[in-house]
Amino acid sequence: MSTFKAPKGTFDLIPPFSATYLAVRDAISAPLRKSGYGYVETPGFEDVNLFARGVGESTDIVTKEMYTLTTKGGSHLALRPEGTASVLRAALEANMHKAGGLPVKLWYSGSYYRYERPQKGRYRHFSQVGAEAIGAEDPALDAELIILADQAYRSLGLREFRILLNSLGDKECRPVYREALQTFLRGLDLDEETLRRAEINPLRVLDDKRESVQKQLVGAPLLKDYLCEECKAYHEEVRALITAAGVAFEDDPKLVRGLDYYTRTTFEFVHDGLGSQSAVGGGGRYDGLSEMIGGPALPSVGWALGVDRTVLALEAEGIELDIPAATSVFAVPLGDEARKVLFGLVTRLRKEGVATDFSFGAKGLKAHMKSANRSGARFAIVAGERDLAEGVVQLKDMESGEQTAVALDELVETVKARLA
Ligand code: ATP
Ligand code: MG
Repeated sequence: MSTFKAPKGTFDLIPPFSATYLAVRDAISAPLRKSGYGYVETPGFEDVNLFARGVGESTDIVTKEMYTLTTKGGSHLALRPEGTASVLRAALEANMHKAGGLPVKLWYSGSYYRYERPQKGRYRHFSQVGAEAIGAEDPALDAELIILADQAYRSLGLREFRILLNSLGDKECRPVYREALQTFLRGLDLDEETLRRAEINPLRVLDDKRESVQKQLVGAPLLKDYLCEECKAYHEEVRALITAAGVAFEDDPKLVRGLDYYTRTTFEFVHDGLGSQSAVGGGGRYDGLSEMIGGPALPSVGWALGVDRTVLALEAEGIELDIPAATSVFAVPLGDEARKVLFGLVTRLRKEGVATDFSFGAKGLKAHMKSANRSGARFAIVAGERDLAEGVVQLKDMESGEQTAVALDELVETVKARLA
């Protein structure tokens, strides 16, 4: 062990566990990649004001959870706590919304940082895969994203998750509701901070996790009773499209989510095997965000799924992903001459696309074969001086133990044929 440890609230991904992470990222992004979403990658840090404005001044993320820094040049930056604001910023900066047809559909995968109290499923460095569809107001787009996330989770074998769905209304109907809710909240017995929140962003009080608060919210007015005709029709169409796709969901009239920028469709994926960190992903429509960060009006919708919690959900359901061994062939040289010949064969096999590894270092046959076993390879190629003198190598089937001599110049083709 070295003097140093991974910082509090973080952990390293190392083999073999890290392979699960790669597979989960791959599974979540696969439906997006096949549905017209292009890959976007943005910096790990941004101007702090992008998040202050984009995520919202009164949110926990901005007030408590952001890692901020001032550079030697005097710039105020923040490690990115979420992806949407950055992706929208990047799309606007590149004028993607002017370049072709709308929506601009993008997906991303990366590290995010929040200064939180570390616990199971809640870390200071975590991993998300996300999708954003920018510049179109179309209920089919909201439905598409929900269906693709559902498909991603199902492709991993997950079953015990639920989709919670709500509409937050728009700039016509939300203010009316906001006022009604505020009047209601002012009459409750709330602590000072919560009362302040009720003045700045009363909807977020609905998201309060404390039971003492939730108990008082039982009779709170619900947004669904205040939705304007347009929002109601929009929401009904989203619901109908998801239902027609065979995706089950639950209406959750209190679902608001922690970010300020959401309008209309909001949803969350929750998993019942995860205890209090039950949200595995979430998203929604953010029609006003572009204007909030200085862009034109671009109604958009997106989601982000947490990779860490998705991995925990797999564990909770006892699902082991079928991850094939990374190595197909493992070469074991016995002696110096064999090292040269086999190393050459390894390079040729690799060029031919066969996943091949080599037993490095001077060691005895037993230790070499142990490495071969550990690699998970289907075949081992073993050769000593006598084999080389006869112009052959031994091809060993690691499953059956059966060993056959193969001529050196036929090895590549033989291996490829037997792996096929
Ligand atoms: P929570 O209510 O649990 O704090 P959130 O609403 O802050 O979640 P989002 O901002 O919607 O989460 O992020 C989307 C997903 O990213 C979450 O559903 C979760 O899976 C994951 N996530 C968010 N924060 C963390 C974290 N600190 N550690 C691990 N995963 C996280
Ligand atoms: Mg949070």
